[in-house]
Formats: sequence, C-alpha cells, structure tokens
Amino acid sequence: KSGFVAVIGRPNVGKSTLINSLIGQKIAIMSDKPQTTRNKILCVLSQPDAQIIFIDTPGIHKPKHKLGEYMVSAAENTLKEVDVILFVVDASEDLGAGEMYILERLRNTKKPVVLVVNKIDKIDKQQILPTISRYADRYNFIGVVPISAKQNTNLDYLVDEIKKHL
Ligand code: GDP
Ligand code: MG
Repeated sequence: KSGFVAVIGRPNVGKSTLINSLIGQKIAIMSDKPQTTRNKILCVLSQPDAQIIFIDTPGIHKPKHKLGEYMVSAAENTLKEVDVILFVVDASEDLGAGEMYILERLRNTKKPVVLVVNKIDKIDKQQILPTISRYADRYNFIGVVPISAKQNTNLDYLVDEIKKHL
C-alpha cells in the first residue's frame, strides 16, 4: 500500500512533532514559534507493507497578509492531491476559531479525514472522550486517534488507521 497523507491543524498543535515521531528522525522543522514550516515538507514512512508520504501542511488558517493568502491557497491545493487528511488538534486546549476555520475548509474536500487528538499526555484520561465528542459533533471523521506525538503514544494505531484508507 502507498499514498499521500496531509497533516493539517492550526499552528502549535504538534504537526511537525508528529511527523518527526513517525519517521523517527528530525526532519520537519519544529519550534514554539508558529509558522516555522513555511513550505510544505514531505517525509516518507517506509514499512514492509506500506509506503506513506506525509506532507507537513502549514498555513491553513485565516490569512492575515499576502504571504498568508499564498500559504492558505497552497495548503488547500495540497488537500486536493492527498489520499488521507490528518486533522491534528491539541487536547489540552479548547476548540477555538482556528479549528472552526479548518473544519469549514474541510467540508469542501471529499477526502477521508482522521481526527488526531494530540498531547493527551497533558490531560486527564477522563477528558479524552469529551474532547473527541466536541470535534466529532462538528464533522464526520472517518476515524479518531488520541495520541501523544511527544511520547510516541498510539502512533502505531494511527499508522494502521491511515493504512485502512490507502
Ligand atoms: P506545529 O506548529 O503544529 O508543527 O507544532 P510543533 O510540532 O512545532 O509543536 C508545537 C509545540 O508543542 C512544541 O513545543 C512541541 O514540543 C509541543 N508538542 C507537540 N506534540 C506534543 C505532545 O504530544 N505532548 C506535549 N506535551 N507537547 C507536544
Ligand atoms: Mg510545524
């Protein structure tokens, strides 16, 4: 199996950390400063039964300036070319305007979208299900995977979920 996976989410939710953890090397540029990854970065995960190409997709947010506009349209074009979209959210923060904006954009795509609830290491276990519900009430996700990109929690399960849709 092989295919392309776009990783989207507002800045700082852990997209680059997730890709780095999946690939096991530091490739995507990480920073506490949002928008470090200006251009999309491709990383290949090679397994005996699968080749998955992850695209770190910065820039899906309400544009504030011209460069922002360019980045948003580039990011949206990326979504048209992939097989699966991972929508990464931060479990330790509320669903906000950034998430609402992306959910709105996702409605235009006809691609399978997996909800990735990241940073579960920062919240109580009992908070995971309510967090998932808040998002799942607003969009018909093909799958939901709670993870900690930083602590490598559940990443194998996420890869299995992706493979189902390739
Ligand atoms: P991006 O802007 O979506 O690419 O986010 P980054 O990957 O750059 O991560 C933003 C910040 O969140 C960094 O300080 C990461 O170390 C931190 N981070 C990412 N994933 C996790 C996680 O699973 N748990 C915790 N506690 N922090 C995380
Ligand atoms: Mg990044």
